[in-house]
Amino acid sequence: MTDTLAERWRRARPQPAGVHLDSGACSRQGFAAIDAAAQHARHEAEVGGYVAVEAAAPVLDAGRAAVAALTGLAPSDVIFTTGANHALNLLLSCWTGDRSVACLVGEYGPNLALMAANGFGLSALPVDEHGRLRVGAAAEALARKRPGLVHLTPLGSHRGLAQPLGPLAEVCRDLGLPLVVDAAQALGHLDCTVAPDAIYSSSRKWLAGPRGVGVLGVRPHLADRLRPRFPPSECGPPLTVLQQLEFGESNAAARLGFSVAIGEHLAAGDGHIRARLAEVGRLTRAAVGDVPGWRVVEPVDEPTAITTLAPTDGADPHEVRAWLIAERRIVTTACDPRRAPRELTVPVLRLSPHVDVTSDELDLTAAALADAARL
Ligand SMILES: *Cc1c(COP(=O)(O)O)cnc(C)c1O
Repeated sequence: MTDTLAERWRRARPQPAGVHLDSGACSRQGFAAIDAAAQHARHEAEVGGYVAVEAAAPVLDAGRAAVAALTGLAPSDVIFTTGANHALNLLLSCWTGDRSVACLVGEYGPNLALMAANGFGLSALPVDEHGRLRVGAAAEALARKRPGLVHLTPLGSHRGLAQPLGPLAEVCRDLGLPLVVDAAQALGHLDCTVAPDAIYSSSRKWLAGPRGVGVLGVRPHLADRLRPRFPPSECGPPLTVLQQLEFGESNAAARLGFSVAIGEHLAAGDGHIRARLAEVGRLTRAAVGDVPGWRVVEPVDEPTAITTLAPTDGADPHEVRAWLIAERRIVTTACDPRRAPRELTVPVLRLSPHVDVTSDELDLTAAALADAARL
C-alpha cells in the first residue's frame, strides 16, 4: 500500500533532478497543480482576470473546504493568504483581547517577531528535555496565569518533534482559552482535525502546492472578536470579518494550484500520507544514524518526516548543504538558530523527504554526508 502511494506520488509530478530532501521548505508540485495554475493564467488572458476568477470560484471553494476537512473547521471559516506568516500577522494585528501569548520555547523565530511587532507579551509553556510540551504542567500553568491566547506550532521548522496538539486543544477548551495553531509544517503531516480557534498554514510545504499561498482558518466566535485594521478599499456588498481579511489583490492561479494540490492530498488519503511520512522519518533516521560527524536530534520513531542532524565535529550545515547540491544534487536545508532563537543554539542540517523517497536515495545521502565529512 505505502509503495503504491509512493509510486503514484512520484508519477504525478516531474522527475526530480536529483534527490529532493527539502519538503519542509518546499515540496515538488504535481502536474495537476501546475496545469491548473497555467490554465488559469491562460483563461485570464482570454476573458480577463476578474472574469476568470469568478469562473474559478468553485475550485477555490473546494480548496477552502479541503483545508476545513483537515482542520475540523467549516469551509466558511477558511480564507487564503499569501503564506503562514501573513496569516499570523493578519490574526494578531486584528486581535482585540489581551495581548499576551503562551507558546513553546522552541517557537518559530519569525512568529516570535510577529508577536512582538503586534505588542504581544510572551510566556513559555513547560517542555521536557527534547523540547516536547508537558501537557499536564501546561494545564496547571495556564489555569494559574491565563494568557490572551495559547499558540502552538505542532511541528517546528528546526526539529522534527511532533507536539501533542490534540491534548493541548482539550486543555484549552476546558480552560476556555483560545488556541492558535501554526500548521505550516503540520498540515498534511500530522493530524490537525482538532478544530482549534484559529489555524494557519503554507501551501508549498507538505501539501505540495505552489509558493506564495497560505491559509487562515478562524472559528466564528473568534472571528467576531477580530477587528480588521482598515475597511476594504472598494465599496460593495458587506463582507464578513474573514472576507475582509481575504480581500485584496491575490495570485488566483496560485490559489487554484493549491486547491488542486490539497484535493489530491485528500484523494490519496490524509491518513495514508501521514502514516507513510512517519515511516519515511524512521527510514531516514535509520539511514543517517551512523554517519560520522553528525547526531540525529529526534527520537528514531518520531512520527514525522523531518530529520535534523546536529554537527558533532564542527561541520557547517550551510557549507554542507551547498556542497550536497553542487556535487551530489541532493537538496537539504540548513537551519539557522534564527528559526528557533530560544531553543536552537547551533545550525542544523534538515532532511525532509516526502512520501516518494527511496531507500537508494537515503543511502546515497548517507554516503554523501560521509564524503562531505572527509573534505
Ligand atoms: C515555513 C514556516 C512558516 C512560514 O511560512 P510562510 O508560508 O513562508 O509564511 C511558519 N511556521 C513554520 C513552523 C514554518 O515552517
